[in-house]
Amino acid sequence: MKYYNFDIVFQEIPDEVTLAVNITNCPNGCKGCHSPHLHHDIGMNLDENEIDQLLTKYGRQITCFCFMGGDATPKEVARLAGYVRRKSALKVAWYSGKKQFPETFPSFDYVKTGPYQPEYGGLKCRNTNQRLYRNLDGKPVDITSRFWKSV
Ligand code: SF4
Repeated sequence: MKYYNFDIVFQEIPDEVTLAVNITNCPNGCKGCHSPHLHHDIGMNLDENEIDQLLTKYGRQITCFCFMGGDATPKEVARLAGYVRRKSALKVAWYSGKKQFPETFPSFDYVKTGPYQPEYGGLKCRNTNQRLYRNLDGKPVDITSRFWKSV
């Protein structure tokens, strides 16, 4: 599993300062995809060593580590999420582009589901098909409406 780049972001996960790591080799092929370069199997290997380096550099500036994508290898995303949890006190999130609710949900504090569909818009649109779930004591709680408050 490889990643193209990363960024510290403030809006992808409510109330969190998030290191968003953009994973490549996306299999979803959404119409109107905002990041077609992520369709290709390019970038740097995302493994324990790479995560250690990211945590050393940015761990104190963030509250959440988010895997952006990785639908081609969901078990690997969950495995590395477990690694981040063992190595830090950060929350761990996954932005999946799949419609299905993932069986690996317990590995995360937040999971976003749903492909991007231009006719429904992203999470900030009230009629979006996408959902963001918070893991509260093992139960998925839909917090998508948190994106709508300021709209
Ligand atoms: S999941 Fe994201 S990167 Fe993948 S095709 Fe859809 S919009 Fe593009």
